[in-house]
Amino acid sequence: MIAQVPDLGVQHALETVAHADEAGQSWAATTARHRADILHAWYDLILGNAEMIALLITREMGKLLAEARAEVSYGADFVRWYAEEAVRPAGNFRDAPAGGAQLITRRAPVGLSVLITPWNFPLAMATRKIAPALAAGCPVVIKPAPNTPLTTIFAVQLALAAGVPENLVQVVTTTEAPAFSSAVLADPRVRKVSFTGSTAVGKVLLRLAADNVLKSSMELGGNAPLLVFDNADLERAVDGAFAAKMRNGGQSCIAANRILVQDGIADAFVDALTDRLVALNVGNGLAPGVGLGPVIDHNAVTRLTGLVEDATRRGAHLLTGGSAPSHPGTFFEPTLLDHVPSDADLARSEIFGPIAAIQRFSHQDEAIARANDTEHGLAGYVFTENVDRAFNVADQLATGLVGINQGVPSNAAAPFGGLKQSGLGREGSSEGLEEYEEIRYYNLQLRPTA
Ligand code: NAD
Repeated sequence: MIAQVPDLGVQHALETVAHADEAGQSWAATTARHRADILHAWYDLILGNAEMIALLITREMGKLLAEARAEVSYGADFVRWYAEEAVRPAGNFRDAPAGGAQLITRRAPVGLSVLITPWNFPLAMATRKIAPALAAGCPVVIKPAPNTPLTTIFAVQLALAAGVPENLVQVVTTTEAPAFSSAVLADPRVRKVSFTGSTAVGKVLLRLAADNVLKSSMELGGNAPLLVFDNADLERAVDGAFAAKMRNGGQSCIAANRILVQDGIADAFVDALTDRLVALNVGNGLAPGVGLGPVIDHNAVTRLTGLVEDATRRGAHLLTGGSAPSHPGTFFEPTLLDHVPSDADLARSEIFGPIAAIQRFSHQDEAIARANDTEHGLAGYVFTENVDRAFNVADQLATGLVGINQGVPSNAAAPFGGLKQSGLGREGSSEGLEEYEEIRYYNLQLRPTA
């Protein structure tokens, strides 16, 4: 136990909607410069409290302190980016093609936005939504994951200290997520839902959003393929795969879920990646020298154990790890499975843990067909020193983002989001601001003058 937070019911959640809606009226009327100045001040306060936030992240979700510090800087980047974007409203103006009129396009805030976030990046998933909502002029009700409420609460306290008006950003901590979303998304004052989490919950929220025809952004699950070709730089590929797989203990929506390696480089790649995993000390994310922290809870340990058993039963070779270490806690050993068959459960579903699953391939076409054989389409990775092949393969991967010789592709300036069942809409970049805006146009009739 590190802290206690209220477990709020539906009635309280609806009150937060009322408060946010009221505060939102005057916020929408502020100037873009005013909103930008407040976001800049919030950015400064996040950086000024970086160590405190990093400690909070590690204590409530377990990631390594070094990774928590990296998340603070990544999460703060969204606030700075949208402070900069706020003052660049993308209004437009054009002549009607047949003449006689001018068409003036304006951007308006979409309105009260309900934000629902997961536990794996408690700061970044919150700032990636709150910052563009505020920049666009929207009030916010945010529901963090029940495992990780503290970082969100602290980040919002800092936003208030930076000058965000009281009541404009409401945090609802609750263990009654279905009741919360059913009530809040049905409220006519709400105009937007932005969700990051599993595809299954995303589908439930889309159905609820339909009743109120809410503008919806969905950042959902992934099943990222990572392709290593014979002509890759071995060290670069191993570094990239290690980062793409092991960052956050593998608990990332863009984690490399299936590592596809071409036959000519496969033995050397597998040996080198296994060495990297074997060298990791597993333990408390706050302790120095630890290279892998806990997974989120006991259910995750049970699920990961089952995935390894299923894969080995179907013929995968277990080269290291494969179970929970003997010391207490919610840990799982860094694990590498080679020759994973495509029908193994961990090749078809999100692993969300520190298991590297290797498949081998001979030809590019075969690798791309396997990479795209999933209902998900969030991230993909390609490692090759041949620039033609890099672009050719990136073009053929059915994913919203591709890391090319790069294991950590996320960036506040880039439009992050998935294809197929990995989601709708984009976060980050100017596209991320549009998710909180409505487009309106005025048709100005022009009478010819003599
Ligand atoms: P989850 O879907 O179980 O929960 C996410 C959030 O939704 C939590 O706040 C949870 O309380 C809430 N929730 C659950 N049921 C709900 C309901 N019926 N109504 C309203 N809210 C509800 O996911 P998780 O386990 O917290 O996070 C892991 C998942 O998130 C993975 O699938 C991962 O890929 C995905 N994810 C996606 C991205 C992305 O940008 N695409 C980023 C991070 C995580």
